[in-house]
Amino acid sequence: MKQDHDRIFLSSPHMSGNEQKYIDEAFASNWIAPLGNNVVEFEKELADYNDVKDAAVLNSGTAAIHLALRLLDVGSGDTVFCSSLTFVASTNPIMYQGATPLFIDSELETWNMSPAALDRALKDASIHGKLPKAVIVVNLYGQSAQMDELATICSYYNVPIIEDAAESLGSEFQGKKSGTFGKFGIYSFNGNKIITTSGGGALVSNDKAAIEKARFLSQQAREQALHYEHVEVGYNYRMSNIVAGIGRGQLEVLDERIRKRRAIFDRYAKALGDIPGVSFQPEPRGSKSNRWLTALTIDPAVAGVSRDDLIKQLSEHNIEARPVWKPMHLQPLYRHAGYYPHEESTSVSDALFKNGICLPSGSNMAAEDQERVIAAVLDLFEGR
Ligand SMILES: *Cc1c(COP(=O)(O)O)cnc(C)c1O
Repeated sequence: MKQDHDRIFLSSPHMSGNEQKYIDEAFASNWIAPLGNNVVEFEKELADYNDVKDAAVLNSGTAAIHLALRLLDVGSGDTVFCSSLTFVASTNPIMYQGATPLFIDSELETWNMSPAALDRALKDASIHGKLPKAVIVVNLYGQSAQMDELATICSYYNVPIIEDAAESLGSEFQGKKSGTFGKFGIYSFNGNKIITTSGGGALVSNDKAAIEKARFLSQQAREQALHYEHVEVGYNYRMSNIVAGIGRGQLEVLDERIRKRRAIFDRYAKALGDIPGVSFQPEPRGSKSNRWLTALTIDPAVAGVSRDDLIKQLSEHNIEARPVWKPMHLQPLYRHAGYYPHEESTSVSDALFKNGICLPSGSNMAAEDQERVIAAVLDLFEGR
């Protein structure tokens, strides 16, 4: 295939320039490893930004979820509930701990965990005397779940929430930062996220002792002694001082990145929002999404074209687009896991997966590149 244009990516790293300054400081003081000033400062800055008591920076968001489960004492024989519509990283740590996942469907209002499905699942679990040890709530593509309702339901059953805010750093729900509603929240700084450290993550909580314990577990659970003394199993999950330097530079421009991504969403919505059969991921009143990725569904019966037609069309124009996450209850890996749909006979996440697509949304995407994406989409719909 002949490509006339450079490839447009879904979301690629976007440096500010200050990252280099923090890395240089680490080099100048020879604090390349293990810890050092950038790690300490990045943790403070991240906790301040999110208005949460403490943060531990780690080498991935997946590691943060794993530590949260460890801190909640999740082990074999336990059940953990998790949003079905998500990336597999949300749920694999349940398996690391030898526990059993059970998946909860989405609602159309946010595409995130359905309070109705969660309520049914917890009621049944309670009747059977087998409540989950935790509920992992995911905030997809930057949009917060209905954290007030979900938290009310969970607190009724006294089950802690781990908020997977890997995609929603900087987003808000009722004026509070995403990731700060549960017992624990996690963020990811993987390469395609709204800010990146090349790879990394964080665990946050208002429980300072728990975060201190997370730091301990993330460094091989080394006891305070002159020699190497170990009482429990630990991990090598800590973020390095160089990587934290990138994080400091990135955090300074997070709000700017959010403004940019929201503007990209608005341009897509303006240009494509009137096409029959096209619906964008909603942003309910009282919430503010960072619009990490612009996501929409195409109803082929109304639109005359399918999600896959659009991915193919964009690919021919050298533009990357992806289907919405394939729900975990549909994954071969999790075929034996339990699942609670939104309503007894209606699975919302199945439909979102079937018709959902994410468009290029990088904060470093030039206006003319977005025009190219829009033109390619319109070309398909007009030629249908
Ligand atoms: C990216 C992501 C993670 C995992 O983060 P890593 O830093 O890649 O380990 C977890 N959950 C969701 C929803 C994600 O998008």
